[in-house]
Amino acid sequence: MNEKIIDSHCHLDMPAFDQDRQQVLEKARAAGVMGFVVPGTTRDSWQKILDLAAGETDVYPALGLHPYFCAEHNTAQVDQLRTLAEKMRPVAIGEIGLDFFRPDLDQDLQLELFELQLQVAQDLELPVILHTRKAHEQVLKLLKQYPVRSGISHAFNGSWQQARQYMDMGFCLGFGGMLTYERSSKLRTLAAKLPLEHLVLETDAPDMPGAAHQYQRNSPEYLPEVLDVLSEIRSESRQSIAATTTINVCRVLTLPDKTRPVPDPQDA
Ligand SMILES: [Zn+2]
Repeated sequence: MNEKIIDSHCHLDMPAFDQDRQQVLEKARAAGVMGFVVPGTTRDSWQKILDLAAGETDVYPALGLHPYFCAEHNTAQVDQLRTLAEKMRPVAIGEIGLDFFRPDLDQDLQLELFELQLQVAQDLELPVILHTRKAHEQVLKLLKQYPVRSGISHAFNGSWQQARQYMDMGFCLGFGGMLTYERSSKLRTLAAKLPLEHLVLETDAPDMPGAAHQYQRNSPEYLPEVLDVLSEIRSESRQSIAATTTINVCRVLTLPDKTRPVPDPQDA
């Protein structure tokens, strides 16, 4: 039986899915994926994501300006984000953060946009979805300055100490296709010993394909492969990892947990 799981991070709005978005959703649902969190990347992505979520009961929108595309952003767009998020109440502000891995990305602009968006999340009492590369210390410092409600550190690649600090702030850590590579030994060790109550599954589709789909488009239909590898490295059942990671996403992003039986109004 396919376990019920949630893809806490997939870019279903991207052009890579323009030809077959509905089929991708259907295949993923058939594989057990019963929720799709779609984070924003640029201002132009927001309406597409909101439209997609409006048409599907299991697609959850997040809105934000992704640090990777900072050359396309400006601070006026953060004001637009605030207005739109206030009106539409996305499940999170994201994905936002700092990417200090790519030397060509303007770090000062990234910092400015990140702080402004943390302020939006704090003011609107929304969680955040974080993209962080080579910048966990800076991100953790800013989270202490802007104590947002909670969130997810997506594609987590930091240390045990850094993971501890995120968890102490109520954050979950996202793990995806990278875990399926045997060479990811450091990441696997970390994912094996972190408390299950702080883990969430993700694909980051169409990027970050797992070992079985190298050089291909990644897709939420492959999320069960992440569940399989976590089950193996943690020596825990697929059922318990599926159930707990689903509860975790629902908790941090306040999603309705559709795996639970709907209470009969007669019993109320
Ligand atoms: Zn992403």
